Amino acid sequence: MDVRLPELLAEEHIDTYGALSLRHCRILKPYLLEKNGLTADATAIFMILPYHGGVTPENLSVYASVRDYHGYFEGLYRRLTERLSAAYPGYRFCGFTDHSPVDEVNGAARCGLGLIGDNGLLIHPRYASFVYVAELITDAPPALLGLSAAEPRPVQACLHCGACAKACPSDCMREGGSKRECMSAVTQKKGEFTPEEAAAVLALGSAWGCDVCQNVCPYTKKAMATGAIRTPIPYFLEDTISRLTKDYVESLTDGEFNARPFAWRGKAPILRNLELLEREK
Ligand code: SF4
Ligand code: SF4
Repeated sequence: MDVRLPELLAEEHIDTYGALSLRHCRILKPYLLEKNGLTADATAIFMILPYHGGVTPENLSVYASVRDYHGYFEGLYRRLTERLSAAYPGYRFCGFTDHSPVDEVNGAARCGLGLIGDNGLLIHPRYASFVYVAELITDAPPALLGLSAAEPRPVQACLHCGACAKACPSDCMREGGSKRECMSAVTQKKGEFTPEEAAAVLALGSAWGCDVCQNVCPYTKKAMATGAIRTPIPYFLEDTISRLTKDYVESLTDGEFNARPFAWRGKAPILRNLELLEREK
């Protein structure tokens, strides 16, 4: 029986995707292609995975309020590649996100899946920037999978309204700024904070991550106002957290903790951040 990728993706509630030859993609890590037996003749099927639950969490970024995306992608790619490999033996199907051979944001934009904001993020017309970009790379012809490969499009830019750079608490986006580290990275670092870092985390009020440049963006405001921002993917709607506390994190079993996006740094950084925020309340 024919297996068509659009149908498989519809079963996964994925409604935004596009195929682009790797020849039109920026290859950033060629060794990842080689390792998987893929060449520049392969095709990347870029997918947009929205993860915003529609509610703005109080003291953590949206991506940290939902379950860890690594677990999601592991399951998604297992389901997709098992069915595709069984239907099309002899072809390779490899899933990537984050640690990818290609420039994901640029590739998705060149497929016409969104525009690129001055904050460096892909902005989708419905889900704004609260999306993961992921790609399935395959040497199977797109037509065999029920897709047509897109002609690369010019990358569309955002409104350049300047709101993100103006609101950024670290000024790392501002031209001529001091280029202090992005606050998302600061909340994730290990060890003790410097007094400046501690003051900045307190001012931000976030125990994990920073969404300031996304929240002030007019595309986000519009998507929030209409409710369109809410993900249709059940995984990101289940077991969400709107407020983190030290007691909550300490009460998690190892399995529960490891299912959260802040687990990859271990418990110490998130507990340090919460202790700081709760002490100064
Ligand atoms: S995440 Fe926060 S600190 Fe980082 S660029 Fe955006 S607004 Fe600035
Ligand atoms: S806030 Fe304005 S400048 Fe920044 S990404 Fe959004 S539209 Fe572009």
